[in-house]
Amino acid sequence: MIDRLTIPSALADGAAPVDYRPVALMPEVRVIKVGGQSIMDRGRAALFPVLDELVAVKDKYPLLLCAGGGTRARHIYALASDLELPTGVLAALGGYVPRQNARMLQMLLARHGGVFMLHDDFEKLPLYFRLGCIPIMTGMPPFGYWEKPTAHGRIPRHRTDAGVFLSAEVLGARRALFIKDEDGLFTDDPKKNPAATFIPRIGARELIARGLDDCVLEPVVIEYLTRARYCHELQIINGRRPGEITRALAGDDVGTIIFKD
Ligand code: ADP
Ligand code: MG
Repeated sequence: MIDRLTIPSALADGAAPVDYRPVALMPEVRVIKVGGQSIMDRGRAALFPVLDELVAVKDKYPLLLCAGGGTRARHIYALASDLELPTGVLAALGGYVPRQNARMLQMLLARHGGVFMLHDDFEKLPLYFRLGCIPIMTGMPPFGYWEKPTAHGRIPRHRTDAGVFLSAEVLGARRALFIKDEDGLFTDDPKKNPAATFIPRIGARELIARGLDDCVLEPVVIEYLTRARYCHELQIINGRRPGEITRALAGDDVGTIIFKD
């Protein structure tokens, strides 16, 4: 029986961290981000080969696809910032773009069982997988107007990388896969700095300690990884390299692995 007295004390601010092991809801699900700027905004040349690889393995693994935002999201953040709108409004507005992308992914995958789902439809995942579907949702977490205040600037900290990680964590999946357009994490943005070197594997704490100016994932995700219960590895791969998605889903450590250390 639940001891009613233990609940408030565990919730009290400043309480000692409680080590707990929650139920893994659907640990076999592969939570996958299809990059917004890095894949979808490049159109068919980048996206179609990615979808081909995903469709080829859809009966092998339960795939949950999450769409990124990209250039249209950056545009609304820039415009809304110029108009002095608050973070919560930016998050709400920016959330429409990955939803558009998710809808396009669903249309493109409809003949392979693509189904669009909302955030609070996790309950339907067992049904979708049993029917051989590929569920697709926005990567954006549903904080919207309730987005947390940021330390610097007003761009929401929780965008689609965060939503993908948090989805994997709540489902109990060990790895989240991020399909982007670089081979993984580098010491600097390889698009701006050709001298940047590739980092195949790094712990979250070590990565935070390095204080990189620019990162391939939203920084908040690395911070959360340090206290993840299930999603202990983030794999970032290059969706423009044929075969890389297939290898990653088969368990190969292609790309970069950022792990909970
Ligand atoms: P998404 O399409 O998923 O939103 P982003 O465009 O936001 O992806 O992030 C991926 C981009 O991050 C890469 O294309 C790369 O140019 C940039 N980037 C910035 N810093 C780094 C880094 N340290 N290592 C690798 N890529 C980086
Ligand atoms: Mg991004």
